[in-house]
Amino acid sequence: MDKKILEKLEISQGDITLMDVDAIVNAANTSLLGGGGVDGAIHRTAGPGLLEECRTLGGCPTGEARITGGYNLAARHVIHTVGPVYSGKPRDKALLTGCYQNSLRLAADNNLTSVAFPAISCGVYGYPIEEACKIAVDTTCLFLKTAPAITRVIFMLFSPKDLKVYEDYIESLKTSDT
Ligand code: ADP
Repeated sequence: MDKKILEKLEISQGDITLMDVDAIVNAANTSLLGGGGVDGAIHRTAGPGLLEECRTLGGCPTGEARITGGYNLAARHVIHTVGPVYSGKPRDKALLTGCYQNSLRLAADNNLTSVAFPAISCGVYGYPIEEACKIAVDTTCLFLKTAPAITRVIFMLFSPKDLKVYEDYIESLKTSDT
């Protein structure tokens, strides 16, 4: 993996709603009308304006993404993407790849330079973190090659265990580099 691309990746543990970045990504559901987990936390911090704007969007299919304002969040925007419910079928990977690609494409199209992702689908949607981590990191690295204006992508993990999975995978990419 290209070292310059890997240098744009950061991993951290904590609450994504506190991130001061151009956009935080929300692991939403297809209605975009709020839910539990990270979605609930983002809506609670952003305030009611976010839900009002989401109501105007008419939902979002799995694997796609939509952008809104950030309202009371420190982040300027929220990119809402809908991860797959894990089924163990090959389609899961294509849909989760789409979440990262489409979120980053929206960021690039809106001239955003810093984006923070939670571990999409790895909560109630049940995606195994080791598989999801590879998809998140590989898809992001590939996309960043085509979008040099994006200078920071932060993977915000909620648990120390998830953080370790990302640390180990990114470290393995760095050491396999020639
Ligand atoms: P999904 O339905 O896509 O699985 P969840 O919100 O249930 O979405 O979980 C996605 C990931 O976000 C999980 O790893 C969960 O631990 C994590 N998470 C939950 N709240 C937060 C938060 N405030 N900041 C960052 N990550 C969070």
